[in-house]
Amino acid sequence: MTEIRPENPQYRIVEIFESLQGEGRNTGMPAVFIRLGKCNLACSWCDTDYLTFDMMGLADIMGRLKKYAARNIIITGGEPTIQPHLEILLDALKNQGYFLCMETNGLNPAPPQIDFVSASPKACYAAKYEKQCIQTASEVRIVADGDVLDFAEKMERKIRAEHYYLSPCETGGEMNIYDTIRQIGVLNGRPNKPVHWQLSVQTHKWAGIE
Ligand code: SF4
Repeated sequence: MTEIRPENPQYRIVEIFESLQGEGRNTGMPAVFIRLGKCNLACSWCDTDYLTFDMMGLADIMGRLKKYAARNIIITGGEPTIQPHLEILLDALKNQGYFLCMETNGLNPAPPQIDFVSASPKACYAAKYEKQCIQTASEVRIVADGDVLDFAEKMERKIRAEHYYLSPCETGGEMNIYDTIRQIGVLNGRPNKPVHWQLSVQTHKWAGIE
């Protein structure tokens, strides 16, 4: 049966803005960020107001993008993979020749239109990832919101990726960067370690940009 696609599907848009990617392998890359509303997790330290959004039609989104120079789009959230009609938006972006990146918590597989998948599985929901988890990504980024060594070892076995990062967690204005580096040292100090872990920090916060 042929799927009937709405002509101007509506999306939960928290914000659209142009900036530089602040984290992971693509740090420094100019990009337009499309932040989509709602999430299928609720991490206690989440710094995104993903429940405050406006509905915006596909035509308006595509029109808005014309005012930005960047040719890279970062679809983020919230959790993008739970957005209704996401495939229609991604097809439209692909047709315009954009390089598409997605930031996902990695519970669901990334759509095939995505060129660069940044999976950020959450250790505070480790039990969920035992049952359901993305299998491949461009990079894995785990926020070190405590001792995440066991979780990181599980994720490096479950998700095949080119790059693996631990990121410090910021709570109450404090960033646990030293403990994050300690945990990276433990992971990389294992004999026959299957992957190499690196540090990813939110450089955009230090640079004072959005
Ligand atoms: S998965 Fe990401 S967006 Fe969702 S609650 Fe956790 S940190 Fe926030």
